[in-house]
Amino acid sequence: MSVLAIGVIVHCGAHMSTDYAPHRTPGHIHLPDRRAILLHSKPVASVLLPLARSPLPARTILAMLKRTHTCGKLRADNVGKTVTLNGWVDSYRHHGRLIFIDVRDHTGITQLVFDPDQGREIHDLAATYRREDVIAAQGKVVKRQSVNEKIPTGEIEIVVGKTERLNKCAKPPILPDEARDDTGAVSEDTRLRYRYIDLRRPRMQQIIRTRHKVTQTIRNTMTAMGFCEIETPVLCKSTPEGARDFLVPCRLMPRTFYALPQSPQILKQILMMAGFDRYFQIVKCFRDENLRFDRQPEFTQLDVEMAFVEQDDVFAAFEQVIRTVWKELLSLEVGAIPRLTYEEVTNTYGSDKPDLRYGVKLFDVTAIAKKCDFRVFTSAIEGGGVIKAIAVPGAASFSRKQTDALGEWVKQFGAGGLPTTKVIAGGKLEGGIAKFVDGVSPELIATLGAGEGDLLCFAADKIDVANRVLGELRRKLAGELKLADESKWSMFWVVDFPLFLWNEEDQRWDSAHHPFCAPRPEQLHLLDTDPHKITAQTYDFIINGHEMVSGSIRIHQPEVQQKIFQLLNISDEEAKDRFGFLIEAMSYGCPPLGGFALGLDRLIMLLCRTDNIRDVIAFPKTQTGADLMMQAPASVDQKQLDELGLRLKPE
Ligand code: ASP
Repeated sequence: MSVLAIGVIVHCGAHMSTDYAPHRTPGHIHLPDRRAILLHSKPVASVLLPLARSPLPARTILAMLKRTHTCGKLRADNVGKTVTLNGWVDSYRHHGRLIFIDVRDHTGITQLVFDPDQGREIHDLAATYRREDVIAAQGKVVKRQSVNEKIPTGEIEIVVGKTERLNKCAKPPILPDEARDDTGAVSEDTRLRYRYIDLRRPRMQQIIRTRHKVTQTIRNTMTAMGFCEIETPVLCKSTPEGARDFLVPCRLMPRTFYALPQSPQILKQILMMAGFDRYFQIVKCFRDENLRFDRQPEFTQLDVEMAFVEQDDVFAAFEQVIRTVWKELLSLEVGAIPRLTYEEVTNTYGSDKPDLRYGVKLFDVTAIAKKCDFRVFTSAIEGGGVIKAIAVPGAASFSRKQTDALGEWVKQFGAGGLPTTKVIAGGKLEGGIAKFVDGVSPELIATLGAGEGDLLCFAADKIDVANRVLGELRRKLAGELKLADESKWSMFWVVDFPLFLWNEEDQRWDSAHHPFCAPRPEQLHLLDTDPHKITAQTYDFIINGHEMVSGSIRIHQPEVQQKIFQLLNISDEEAKDRFGFLIEAMSYGCPPLGGFALGLDRLIMLLCRTDNIRDVIAFPKTQTGADLMMQAPASVDQKQLDELGLRLKPE
């Protein structure tokens, strides 16, 4: 063995003694001590211990058979060529004398044939190849006797003349093809635990590479428009997005904590004051919230801020991004993008982020309902409420049990129940509250534009509750009945949000977005008298019923900012403590400014047509915030706690 080979082995040995030999350095591997992350079928140590004890490979590869092509590349044109492929064993079949191995990489699969006539030694080696082993194979491209139409390389195969096992795979706990079609054959926890195998799946490769393409497209578009990418710190001070902060104790300044940024909001505003008038960043944000299917504790935004602008300028910048992404990724031209007001969408669709790929509009039928002798309606109207209704196509087939279940379901949104009735042939109503509304049925059906087979659903309540109930119901039933035309995209801006929302529970005003959103200048005088009437220069961009972008024109005068803090019940002291540096910076020359943030994970979910946010992130967290592969979060050594001056409360 050459000196070089010995060098390699010595290096290997040294490597193993630190990273892979827990029996030698027992404190080195932190096994999980949290129930939530003890989901592993096999603790890490059960793989690592035998590895550490097993002898080093007898043969160290000096010059690997390096690939000349990737595994999805070869076609009939390449017949006769000698090629080398590297990849993972996707499957193996022993057919009498011949061994067939499908070798896979991110580009596809190629069939290798091992014939004993090509050399006994390589045939014997190939007989030991098992799934997910990493191999190299060199050989001649030949035409297949029977073409495999299912794969792009199906016309050819490689008759292998040389092969090498680059690494053996321990018995794989999951296989990349078991969940290839997302049928849920493998539990998601197992996929996340062995993420490196899961990511080998073609679908995951496609998603993560799409994500790369999207970020590259965004970067190029922003740069072409004159934006400058600037990084802002991760060790930060609490930011104003309204969620719980993740805190990081500071060792050098005992008893103090950094907060991980919920967004770079304040810093991007300060960058405008610093003269960078077109900023963007593709940035991680952290919010310690209870997680839902489309939330992660750390997520990625395209964060943008612009100086010397008005709302239209910000819209133009974002529209350029979305048009380019749609063109590059989907080869689609985005047409004119409508702007709807907050009032319009909440009244018509019961939501500030409706999906407009289907109708099912909300109608105010109070005037018609007044004529009915139906206690639920009359008492709601007497109490200052309204009667609103939707007609849901195809839902007349629902059973009594189903409509009763909907009546229960709407209660979580503040409704007392859900009066319904069905439109049957001849424009007649049947079932539910039919007998109460029979007298007004032609008027009702005409107002709702309803037809045979529709289920009419009513909300009798204060306007906000009625809108919310029917908006949620509209979304739920459209999903179940698949009312949206999946070949379409629904994109629009929502503008003219209220500046404040009344918080009934705490009896105070809250910012509808965040406290730096600017009121319409002509409404500034209402700050003292009628804050609820003020419209903010705030906007959202909605795609297929998802809030994709949120942003605003910001306040740029310190006096206005202070006034808003007062209205939000943020004391001078608290404002100084939390945002003092922003107010100070504002007083040293702040240009008019505005911006937005785009939720990148959600955008990729839409482009890749998945409902699961974890599918679009290489190393995501579970709903309990755990990384099952890294086994984070984890306990830390007492020494680390001592250095930070922290003591854990007894459980
Ligand atoms: N900082 C806001 C957010 O993260 C977006 C913005 O107003 O620019 O939602």
